Amino acid sequence: MIIDERMIAFIQSMDRGNSLFLTDLEQKALDDNVPIIRPETQSLLRFLLALTKPHNILEVGTAVGFSAILMAENTSDDCRITTIEKYEKRIPEARKNFAASGYENRIRLLEGDASDILLQLTEGCDLIFMDAAKGQYIHFLPQVKRLLNPGGVLISDNVLQDGEILESRFAVERRNRTIHSRMREYLFTLTHDEEMETVLLPVGDGVTLSVKMGEEPPIAVEEGSEKAIGRTEETERKESGITGSRTEETEQSKSGITGNITEGSEQSGGGNLE
Ligand code: SAH
Ligand code: MG
Repeated sequence: MIIDERMIAFIQSMDRGNSLFLTDLEQKALDDNVPIIRPETQSLLRFLLALTKPHNILEVGTAVGFSAILMAENTSDDCRITTIEKYEKRIPEARKNFAASGYENRIRLLEGDASDILLQLTEGCDLIFMDAAKGQYIHFLPQVKRLLNPGGVLISDNVLQDGEILESRFAVERRNRTIHSRMREYLFTLTHDEEMETVLLPVGDGVTLSVKMGEEPPIAVEEGSEKAIGRTEETERKESGITGSRTEETEQSKSGITGNITEGSEQSGGGNLE
C-alpha cells in the first residue's frame, strides 16, 4: 500500500465504477488471484482515455482481459486494441472474456512473449499500457518508444512495487533485488529521457505517465490548396462564429465566404472542426 488505506477508501468512494460485466469479471479475477489493475488505476485509465481519445492502443500484459475490455468500453467504436499475453493458461480465458464482452472485433490478442512480439509490430500507437512483468519494462522500452506516435502516451503500471521501490537494494529480499534494480533503472531512464515527458504518480501500485514529444503528423491537405489549416485560423473562425454545422460550412464555402479553408478541412476529415 503506497498511500494511507483510509485515503484510498475515500477516493474509491467517489468512483462511479464500471459496467456490470467488468464488475463481475473483476470479482472473478480477484477470487482466482489473477492480477488486474486496481480501482484507482482504472479510474486514471478511464480519465486518460477520455482525454486522449486514442484510435490505436497497445497493451503489454493481458492476463484475462480485464483492462483491455475496460479500454474498449471507454473508447470509440473505431479504436482498436492490441494486447499481448504469454501465459498459456490465461490466453483462452481472455479470448472467452473478449467474446462475452461484445468487444471481440476491436480487441486483438497476440500470443507470445512481448520481447519477440513487440519487435514484429509496426503500427504506431496513440496509447500504450505497460502492465506485464515489472523486471522487463526496461527491456521493452526501446520498442515501446518506437511504436508510440508523437504525442502518444505511455502508461506503466506497478512501478512503485507496493512501496518497496524506495527501500535500499539491501533491504529488499534477495529474490526481489533484480526487479528492484531494473524498476529503478526504468524510472530513471523514463524520467531522464529528453524525448519523453514523464510524471510518476502514487496511484494504485504506482503509475508513470509519459508523453512522447515531437511533432504530430501533419494533417493531409488537398493538393493545390494554398496552405494547411493552422489551429489558430480554425480557432479564429470558431470564435468569430463563422463555423456551425457542416451544412452551414458547406454553404458558406459555396458562397465563397471561407474559400478553400473548408475544402482543406473536409479533406482532412473535418475532425478538427468539431
Ligand atoms: N493488464 C491486466 C493485468 C496484467 S497482469 C489487467 O489489468 O487486466 C500481467 C500479465 O502480463 C500476466 O498475465 C503475465 O502472464 C503477462 N506477462 C508477463 N510478462 C510477459 C511477457 N514478457 N510477454 C507477454 N506477457 C507477459
Ligand atoms: Mg498491473
